[in-house]
Amino acid sequence: MKVGIHSSVFTGRLDHAGIEKSVVGAADAGYDVLEIPIMDPEGLDVDFLAAALESHNLQMTGSLGLTSETDISSEDPAVVAAGENRLFEALDCVADVGGSHLCGVIYSAMTKYQRPASEAGIANSKRVVDSLASEAHKRGISIALEVVNRYESNVINTAGEALAYLDDLGSDNVAVHLDTYHMNIEESNLWQPVLEAGPRLGYVHIGENHRGYLGSGHLPFGALFRALRSIEYDGVITFESFSSAVVDENLSNTLGVWRNLWSDPNDLAARANDFIRSSWAAVQ
Ligand code: MN
Repeated sequence: MKVGIHSSVFTGRLDHAGIEKSVVGAADAGYDVLEIPIMDPEGLDVDFLAAALESHNLQMTGSLGLTSETDISSEDPAVVAAGENRLFEALDCVADVGGSHLCGVIYSAMTKYQRPASEAGIANSKRVVDSLASEAHKRGISIALEVVNRYESNVINTAGEALAYLDDLGSDNVAVHLDTYHMNIEESNLWQPVLEAGPRLGYVHIGENHRGYLGSGHLPFGALFRALRSIEYDGVITFESFSSAVVDENLSNTLGVWRNLWSDPNDLAARANDFIRSSWAAVQ
């Protein structure tokens, strides 16, 4: 098991200064992996990022949420094509940096939909994800679909829905990506979905119910860690937390980050790293 942290804990801008800040912050706090949101593939200096990660002995994963303009679950072929293009650009970024995973809301837009997903739209989504996964397989990159709550997608809101989606794909290079913040809203508990996904669980986000300090909310993380241990989970557990103290122009508004849950990213990161590692050790 490796412990990761989302770069939005440290910076809202992935320019050189932001990359430096998040790489140094993640390394100093004891993390193995830095997750980079690839919301702007053209604006990311992949060579600079790769060099910074290597010099701090960090691995990289990439994540993103598609938008209404790049929604591959749309029925509009032009929008689907734009989304496919965006996903392949993001895959290029992960490959160029030498990353291991591309995850997140990459099967629909990350937005509050006003109607259910359509059958034709879901078929478009599966076709594009299948083709992305085949290309990713050739490059040694794993694809994982993040299960998010009903206010952020209308395609996959539970682990069961993710597994049913995976069953329709030709590629086996697609896994389930669970996030405790979303599980708290949509699932019955934090352990059943983990057991249900079993070996098809490929990525985990750990976050509190309010997305602040781990352990300061009401989520029963012991149940999560016991379930992860029992399926012999060997992937990444990435800490995700958001505060108005760090603003990402692309992400903060989409996620509804309106209030200040913390102001010291380094303290937050160090405590979360300790929380995850000690919780993991406690259920050994
Ligand atoms: Mn997440």
